[in-house]
Amino acid sequence: AIVLGIETSCDETGVGIVADGRLLGAALSSSMDEHARFGGVVPEIAARAHLEAMVPCVSTAFERAGIAPSDVDAIAVTSGPGLATALQTGLAAAKAYALAWNKPLYGVHHLAGHVAADTLEHGPLPPRSIALIVSGGHTSLLLLSDLARDPIVHLGDTRDDAAGEAFDKVARILGLPYPGGPAIDRAARDGDPTAFPFPRAMLDSGFDFSFSGLKSAVARHVGQGGPAVPDVAASFQEAVVDVLTRKAVRSCREHGVDTLVVVGGVAANRRLRALAAERCAEAGITLRIPAPSLCTDNGAMIAAVGDLLIAAGAEPSRLDLSADPSAPLTRAALT
Ligand code: ATP
Ligand code: MG
Ligand code: FE
Repeated sequence: AIVLGIETSCDETGVGIVADGRLLGAALSSSMDEHARFGGVVPEIAARAHLEAMVPCVSTAFERAGIAPSDVDAIAVTSGPGLATALQTGLAAAKAYALAWNKPLYGVHHLAGHVAADTLEHGPLPPRSIALIVSGGHTSLLLLSDLARDPIVHLGDTRDDAAGEAFDKVARILGLPYPGGPAIDRAARDGDPTAFPFPRAMLDSGFDFSFSGLKSAVARHVGQGGPAVPDVAASFQEAVVDVLTRKAVRSCREHGVDTLVVVGGVAANRRLRALAAERCAEAGITLRIPAPSLCTDNGAMIAAVGDLLIAAGAEPSRLDLSADPSAPLTRAALT
């Protein structure tokens, strides 16, 4: 099916058009710079920016895809989780297009979108896989079967900060610019990852994560007098990706799964990509990580879920579909 996807859960207005698992065209507008001086996303600023960017992004996506609205079979939209005012802007736009063009509407869980992003690059997922979602608000290990049909099983989640949140907070402690993830990734390039032995919480117990102790350890360390930023960044980053990759590989072993998918904004991290590749190769696990532009928020990933839902014969959502800012991840579809 040909699906227009709309994503506005946070600070990127993402529009993407997907046809039978293939990305036809996309457009992205970010209000990131407008939030930088506040050190985090301001919901009202994000919502206003979505409103301004929506129509231009939709036009650009259609131009790039080389198709017209009449060619589209359905509209897919992120209806949760995320910032309420930001989600509502995307939902209003998606409903308007669905009504005006007389197309079915599919509400999509944002994190299922992160997973589906990988299928645009690497094709359909195998019958069983494990997904490591590492983003700004979430860190989870998921046991997946059919993403469009089956319930999503949580093997583990973070008990406090998400991995991306830890990157953002530690960047702030180090005086690095917002958003922190890419800044730490860059700073760590010139640092020694073994300079400081930061804690690896819950490394060998279960599949839950905890990153707030690590953040506090970095804060204490920095407070004791100016250690070199690159060394702290590299050592912090190493602690995070060590835990993420060790647990992900162990979860595959314990569940007899041979495919690991790593998605979400933090999956753009170079050290995470390298260490995951190394450890999966050792363990005989097939690793799938999409290109960085598909790891961070985008509209194509939401279209990809809509496409999968249609292929699975799922019912469209009702037009009174409402935003669910804290939607739990149990199914890809939010109706
Ligand atoms: P969620 O998906 O949980 O709702 P979100 O949509 O805000 O949250 P994403 O857009 O998936 O999150 O990812 C943003 C996060 O990814 C931020 O915390 C950012 O710092 C982090 N990030 C982006 N690039 C990198 C990188 N190269 N290294 C580490 N972290 C990164
Ligand atoms: Mg973002
Ligand atoms: Fe996201």
